[in-house]
Amino acid sequence: MAGRPLASGPLTIRVRDAFQETRMKKFAVAALALAASAAFAYPDKPVTIVVPFAAGGPTDKVARDLAEALRKPLGGQAIVIENVGGAGGTLGAGKVAKAAPDGYTLLLHHIGMATAPALYRTLPYKTLEDFEYVGMVNEVPMTLIGKPGLPAGSYADLQKWLGANQGKVNLANAGLGSASHLCGLLFQSTLKMEMTTVPYKGTGPAMTDLLGGQVDIMCDQTTNTTSQIESGKVKAYAVTTTKRLSTPALAKLPTLDESGLKGFNVSIWHGLYAPKGTPKAALDKINAALKVALKDPDFMKRQEALGAVIVTDARTNPADHKKFVEAEINKWTPVIKAAGQYAD
Ligand code: ASP
Repeated sequence: MAGRPLASGPLTIRVRDAFQETRMKKFAVAALALAASAAFAYPDKPVTIVVPFAAGGPTDKVARDLAEALRKPLGGQAIVIENVGGAGGTLGAGKVAKAAPDGYTLLLHHIGMATAPALYRTLPYKTLEDFEYVGMVNEVPMTLIGKPGLPAGSYADLQKWLGANQGKVNLANAGLGSASHLCGLLFQSTLKMEMTTVPYKGTGPAMTDLLGGQVDIMCDQTTNTTSQIESGKVKAYAVTTTKRLSTPALAKLPTLDESGLKGFNVSIWHGLYAPKGTPKAALDKINAALKVALKDPDFMKRQEALGAVIVTDARTNPADHKKFVEAEINKWTPVIKAAGQYAD
């Protein structure tokens, strides 16, 4: 017996209709998505990254290297660095908080994002509310360094020299509220010694004066001090993290913790931010570009040579970075309050 046709005419047509309809819908959705992304051709002009410190310093160096690595994944657009130094990084951060939320103004900031709320009674922005958190970039230890002619060859010698010169020692920093301020503050309160702090708009210009002998000592990120230590241009006394560093030029340095300042632990980190209200489509592109940039072999090599540690992929997620900054605020607020200092 001849079998029945597999599908009767009308049923075949109905199945085909439904199939075609689904394909058409899928096509329409894809076309819409494509049109939307074409309409949102971000970035179609240069992007500015505000660095809240002077040019030539450690944050500036991280930002310039990162800008280079971000350029390709951001479609080859130019990325311009704008240095807005002053007030320990709060001026630059305040400028970005008030910038147009269009994805063309970003902020590369460091731990000051989390210490400023405790160091300043009034800030020109709300740290957790006025920014979109893009992601974390790296962690960078600090080093305690001294001017070239300083007559102390080791940390033990330095401590003796500081004791013998109470009231006369100048300690440079990048302004009240900066990382170097925080480190110097903890150093003085741990040693129970008072020094004269000399504020700059960043540790780039502070380093110039230290090299010239105008200031005596400074805490600064390894992204600024490694080459000066390597070439013997400054005296290097200790690292501020509890673990010694593996970067060849820094490996011989003791930690402050092992040098008698038990528990001394300051590690700087950097993150990328945008003004609150920046479109999600732009934020997603910046975040995706950040993840690519952090795996750029040249960026990785440069950061490693300067003692910086690039963070893992998970830590570059916006929500995780925001949680981390919140935890850092909670960690540093009691420490700063206990040191009894305000920047304003
Ligand atoms: N190292 C500086 C600070 O102490 C900032 C900088 O100039 O990058 O916060």
